[in-house]
Amino acid sequence: MNIDQLAWDKMDGLLPAIVQDAASGEVRMLGYMSRDALAATLDTGKVTFFSRSNQALWVKGETSGNTLDLVSVATDCDDDALLVVARPAGPTCHKGMRSCFGEDVITGTGFIGQLERIVSARASSDPDDSYTARLMERGIKRIAQKVGEEGVEAALAATAGDKHEVASEVADLVYHLTVLLKASDTDWQAVIDVLKERHEA
Ligand code: AMP
Ligand code: ZN
Ligand code: ZN
Ligand code: ZN
Repeated sequence: MNIDQLAWDKMDGLLPAIVQDAASGEVRMLGYMSRDALAATLDTGKVTFFSRSNQALWVKGETSGNTLDLVSVATDCDDDALLVVARPAGPTCHKGMRSCFGEDVITGTGFIGQLERIVSARASSDPDDSYTARLMERGIKRIAQKVGEEGVEAALAATAGDKHEVASEVADLVYHLTVLLKASDTDWQAVIDVLKERHEA
């Protein structure tokens, strides 16, 4: 992207910037970027807007700590709008919601991010009420064993040619992998980053 080629003049110096959560695809907020705000975003890796009320640059999260760590910026077809993909450090709306548009705006491919959040919430809940909490309590060896079992079950279902069973076993596997990632202090975004790197190489 060449900053100088964007439609600053047509837009009176401010382009709308849609912010999307890299993990889930969830739309988090809409802000406006001046040329300086976009340059600062690209320089620092912290999503920075132009505040129309304060007429100044505004690093999202500078007071709340709920920063947006930049993953990528794309421009639209006629260079007058920005799509900012970021990793949010916390809820993005200053009213406490994950997204300014509410908590239920995730679609299709973003589901895995939502699953991950549910797993995170359950992980620290009462083991009497939650299978995830019980798994976490039993520790990494048990979780790793479950991943192995579910992997084998998925493989057996596939060789048996039963597509419904394959979907069911892969669902078990993905859930247990999500718990494994959590217990290993990492997440699906890290996995996606590795896959993307290989893809781009
Ligand atoms: P923050 O950038 O999160 O430290 O918040 C600082 C101030 O910026 C808040 O008190 C709000 O006035 C404003 N603000 C923060 N997040 C948003 C948002 N998603 N949409 C609109 N205004 C926001
Ligand atoms: Zn456009
Ligand atoms: Zn908001
Ligand atoms: Zn299974």
